Amino acid sequence: HAKTAGGNSQSMFAPQMYQNIQQRFNMEQALVNAIEQQQFSLYYQPQVTDTGRVIGVEALLRWFHPDLGAISPATFIPVAEETGLIEDIGFWVLHQACQQLQKWQTDPQLVGITMSVNISAQQFYLPEFVSLVEQCLRQYNLTPEYLMLELTESLVLADLDDAVARMQQIKQLGVKFSMDDFGTGYSSLSYLSRLPFDEVKIDQYFVRSGSTGQPRDWVIVDAIVGIANTYGMKLVAEGVETHEQQQLLQQSGCRCYQGYLYAKPAPAADTAQWIKQYLLSH
Ligand code: C2E
Ligand code: MG
Ligand code: MG
Ligand code: MG
Repeated sequence: HAKTAGGNSQSMFAPQMYQNIQQRFNMEQALVNAIEQQQFSLYYQPQVTDTGRVIGVEALLRWFHPDLGAISPATFIPVAEETGLIEDIGFWVLHQACQQLQKWQTDPQLVGITMSVNISAQQFYLPEFVSLVEQCLRQYNLTPEYLMLELTESLVLADLDDAVARMQQIKQLGVKFSMDDFGTGYSSLSYLSRLPFDEVKIDQYFVRSGSTGQPRDWVIVDAIVGIANTYGMKLVAEGVETHEQQQLLQQSGCRCYQGYLYAKPAPAADTAQWIKQYLLSH
């Protein structure tokens, strides 16, 4: 096809490019509307231990478009990041999650639960990000130790020194940090020892590989568990769907799990009810 286009590969790709720009534009406009029309909500997914305790929840953004229905964060978060809209969306997420945490901190059955919030690079590197977090702690009168910010490897590696400095500032407020999707990026595992994370999340890729015939990856899980234990970091395995996976993880020394085996992300009231029920039966 490239040949019939007279070797001009530019023209060949032009319609595709146009389409991408069109889609980007529509999504961007739809995201602007979504903010204005309050189409976002937060769902919460519990994290449980092998001894039947619930240690925390992860806040996960949901977008219900009036015509298109539910749109996955995997689809719209990257667009929000590219367009800068993640600043406003992330601000809303942080406030919403902190407000929810405040409610749960005044409930005797939920008081010790950690709230984990995903933070994008654009948000984290905002000059005012530290004071945004501080403001939230104050506004919602939170015990800071129960707020956990999830960062990804690529965010941290983008500017290692700046990231660590910023993390240290926020840690001085008492807030915790979790390394999300660990093991999927390009950093060597030893990077973890140089970063002030309180928790590591083992990506669901590794959890899944345990039962689908890629046992070599299980070596990585063992390595992550070893590093986390050595540096006193909490460990949470993501995407745990089966008892077999949970047992393999437990054998490797991972004691906290998040996944459909326990509960899917759900609205705050449902998750609170789920946690209370779970605590009663364990
Ligand atoms: P993540 O932070 O790694 O979140 C875990 C994802 O795994 C969530 O997808 C969750 O619904 C899904 N999950 C949990 N348990 C299972 C399971 O057992 N099996 C399977 N197959 N999946 C499971 P979700 O909610 O679609 O979010 C996707 C990603 O979008 C998140 O990955 C995170 O990177 C991003 N994201 C979500 N909410 C926010 C947010 O408020 N801010 C930012 N910056 N990013 C967000
Ligand atoms: Mg996460
Ligand atoms: Mg993750
Ligand atoms: Mg992920």
